[in-house]
Amino acid sequence: MKRLYHAKLLSADCTRFSDGELWIDEDGVIVFCGVPTESRLAAARFTETRDLGGDYVIPGFKNAHTHSAMVFLRSRAENTQLWPWLSTQIFPREDKLTDEDIYWFTRLAILEYLQNGVTAAFDMYFHANAFYDACIDSGFRAALCGSATADDKESVAKLAALYETYSGKHPRFAVQLGFHAEYTANPDLLKELSKLAEYHKTGVFMHSSETQNEVNDCLSRHGKTPTELFSDLGLYRYGGGAFHGVYLSDHDLDLIHAAGVTLVTCPCSNLKLASGIARVSEWAKRSIPFAIGTDGAASNNALDMFRETHLCTVLQKVRTMDPAALKASDALRAAVSVGARTMGFPDCVSLDAGNQADFMILDSRAPNLNPPISPVETLVYAASPRNVKETVIAGRTLYRDGEFFVGENPETIRAQAAARAERIESEL
Ligand SMILES: [Zn+2]
Repeated sequence: MKRLYHAKLLSADCTRFSDGELWIDEDGVIVFCGVPTESRLAAARFTETRDLGGDYVIPGFKNAHTHSAMVFLRSRAENTQLWPWLSTQIFPREDKLTDEDIYWFTRLAILEYLQNGVTAAFDMYFHANAFYDACIDSGFRAALCGSATADDKESVAKLAALYETYSGKHPRFAVQLGFHAEYTANPDLLKELSKLAEYHKTGVFMHSSETQNEVNDCLSRHGKTPTELFSDLGLYRYGGGAFHGVYLSDHDLDLIHAAGVTLVTCPCSNLKLASGIARVSEWAKRSIPFAIGTDGAASNNALDMFRETHLCTVLQKVRTMDPAALKASDALRAAVSVGARTMGFPDCVSLDAGNQADFMILDSRAPNLNPPISPVETLVYAASPRNVKETVIAGRTLYRDGEFFVGENPETIRAQAAARAERIESEL
C-alpha cells in the first residue's frame, strides 16, 4: 500500500481542501482519505511513503467530450464556421485515416491529457480498436461513444457490435451508444438507435444544438428541436447525454431534466467556431447534471481542461452580467466529478475511499497558486497545466515532473504523429 501524506485533499463536493493523506492499495484503489488515527497509522503496512509537502491533490479532470485523434488537425483549418469547416476541411482529411494513424494521434493526445491533469476522456471517433489499444497501452482511462451517421447503412449494426465488443472488456475502458448529430442522421436511423438503446436499457449520446442553424434546420425538417425529436423517438428513455447544447430552449431543458440527461459544455470550441455561449448557469439552476469537454483539438485547439473550467464559469458571468452566475466549485465539480459518472466510471468521482486512485498533484509553491487563500477559487481562476506535477491513473503514475511513463518514448509518439499528419496532407 502507498501512503501520500502532508497533502491538501479536495472534498467530494469540490468546495474545500483539507489537510490529510491518501492511501492507495496494489489494485490502484483509494483505501483511505483524510487524517488517520494514530492506531490506524501504526497498524498500516506501507510499501511506499511520500511527503507531498502540502501540495494539492484533486481528482483528475474528466474530459467529457473530445475527439482525441483530431490532434492531427490542430490549427489546420481556422476562421471558418462549423458546417463549412466540417465539410471542406475536416471530412476529406478524416477519410484518409488508417487504424495506425488513429493509434499514434490518440497516443499524442494522451500525452497532452496527462500533462494537463486529465485522467479520463470521453471520446467520439472511429477506428475503435486503434483508440482502445492507444488508451490501454498508455495506461489511460477512456470511454468511447459511437458516432453513427445516416451515410453508413451499416451504422447501427456497427454500433451494436461496438457496444457488445467493448462493454466490460477492460476496467479502464467504457463504451456508450452514440450517433454524430441530428444533421448527419435521419428518422429511420434514430428509430433503429432507439430500439438498440431499449434493448440494452442504456442512454444515448450525441452532438446536439451546437449552432442556431442546426436547430433551425431541424425545426424546418421535423417541426421540432433536436431535443424534442430525440425525446419523442425515445432516445433519452435511459438518460444519456448531449454535447454542446448551446441553443437549448426552456422546453428542451424541461425534457432533459425529466429524462436525467447530462449536458456537456465545450466552451472554447463554441467560442472559436463562433457557435455561441451555452446557458450553463441556467442548467445549474435547474439541477441538470453537466460536465465539461474540450471537443477535438481541430476546433479548440488545446486539450486543456484548466482553460475549459475557467471559461465555463467566466462566460456565464458575462452572459448574464452577474458575477455570481456560476460558482468556481460548481465548475470544478463538473470538470473533475460529473464527467466520470457520465462516461461510465462512477468510482472515479472523488478521492473518497473505495474509489479509483485517479488524481493529479498540483504544486502548492507555484507563485500563481499563492497565497493559499480560497484554493478552490484559485484553482479555477488562476491555475494552469504548468502547475501539474504528477498525474496518476488507477494508482499508477503516468506523468511526473515533465516525464511520461506510458510504455513508449514520447519522442517516438511525436515523430509518428508528425509524419502521419504530413502523409495525410500529401494524399489530398
Ligand atoms: Zn465534438
